[in-house]
Amino acid sequence: MALITPKCMKCNNEIKGDEKILVEMRYPKRKGFTEIKAFLNVEGKFICEECSAEIKI
Ligand SMILES: [Zn+2]
Repeated sequence: MALITPKCMKCNNEIKGDEKILVEMRYPKRKGFTEIKAFLNVEGKFICEECSAEIKI
């Protein structure tokens, strides 16, 4: 029931279900996370586990 097909912003690989990922996003201004999937589709940038290992946080 995923609304989005997340892809890694670095390597462009599709994110697999159950994969551990990083999401870079802006925190919503309005209250509530009811439309989080739609919001992620617009604002979210996904980074797969492989690429996230190369990023120092
Ligand atoms: Zn990647």
